[in-house]
Amino acid sequence: MSLTVLMNAGPWLSVPPPGYGGIENVIATLVPELRRLGVRVVLASVDSSTLPVDEKFSVFPDGQFHALQRPYNQVCGISQAHLSGVVRVLHSRDDIDLVHDHVEAVGLATLAAMGPDAPPALHTLHWDLAKHPELYGNLDGGDRVRVSGVSASQLARAPRALREHSVGHVHLSTPLAVGADRRPRADKGDHLITLGRINPGKGQDVGARLAHRVGVPLVLAGPVGPYHRPEDLAAAGDEARQNPDVRFFYDEVAPHVDGDLVRWVGTVAGQERDDLVAGARASLFPLRWEEPGGTAVVESLALGTPVVATARGCLPELIENGRTGLLTTDEDELGDLLLAAGLLDPDECRREAALRFTPAVMAERYVDLYERVRQLAATPRLQPA
Ligand code: UDP
Repeated sequence: MSLTVLMNAGPWLSVPPPGYGGIENVIATLVPELRRLGVRVVLASVDSSTLPVDEKFSVFPDGQFHALQRPYNQVCGISQAHLSGVVRVLHSRDDIDLVHDHVEAVGLATLAAMGPDAPPALHTLHWDLAKHPELYGNLDGGDRVRVSGVSASQLARAPRALREHSVGHVHLSTPLAVGADRRPRADKGDHLITLGRINPGKGQDVGARLAHRVGVPLVLAGPVGPYHRPEDLAAAGDEARQNPDVRFFYDEVAPHVDGDLVRWVGTVAGQERDDLVAGARASLFPLRWEEPGGTAVVESLALGTPVVATARGCLPELIENGRTGLLTTDEDELGDLLLAAGLLDPDECRREAALRFTPAVMAERYVDLYERVRQLAATPRLQPA
């Protein structure tokens, strides 16, 4: 295939990311598979990115994530500066067939505002679409700019103008799904795990309360705001409370963290993360929001750990109730499901992941969408008579 794609990863983190970085991880997973399929990839990122690509350009030397703690008027120029660099590149060359953009709000706005000479663009929506109603509600990308979601349920709740630009969704994937059905079974411990940012939407307070109710050990893994380790949060003192996720942790979660039945272990990575998940009797997602894509959900399946979750957002699309997990809309019933999760077969979870959630499956689906976006851009809309 001779297709050159400008992959816009944005200015916030390098690709692959040094630690937490959902979008950058998706790009790091997608790009090698696209290149295997013959796509040339020009990466717009920061200079410290190490992902092998055909070409790379950047405006910033390193990820600017740290700046996101600053007030809006001191940070709003960063993504604009990065996008200005992208626009300059697009104006200076004619070999880019398509832009695949991942930069929240400003990526979509900039690409939609570019004239008809710009290449077709696909903007992937990685987040909650209730955000940015002013932008999404009035979007006009013409025939050239389209969006894709990370689940059907996410797009179903999108504002109409955004849905009219949609070419569909692509589920998230994980490298852990490759050969997941052939890996030996992990020894299961007794614990449950929640893996993700600790915040109200992910509902770790509910999880911690339920763990005490049913008497099952629960490991809470993930950062609290910008703090990755319990000792860093403790060292930050009262000032840390300015962050809403820190306040949520102290007020709603910490009272249930006794260091014995319920433990917060901070962010875990690599083998430590995989062992904790693979050894758990279930992964718990006691959601209080409409989870858009759920990377940690597909990772859990790939590691042979059934999912117990609130049936919200993408969960019913990713989990087959009764086979790869147990879902309910009732918070109280979640506790009973935690006890029943041990009856599910870990091999069913790993088989499902190997079938549906590999990087190759994701890349093939994106290549289809690239073709669709290019076709739509080449077919002007019918004008009313
Ligand atoms: N994650 C991790 N260590 C942690 C907590 C989370 O590596 O301690 C990773 C997790 O494995 C997943 C990502 O962070 O790859 C979270 O992505 P998800 O889509 O589940 O949630 P988001 O934070 O993007 O809403």
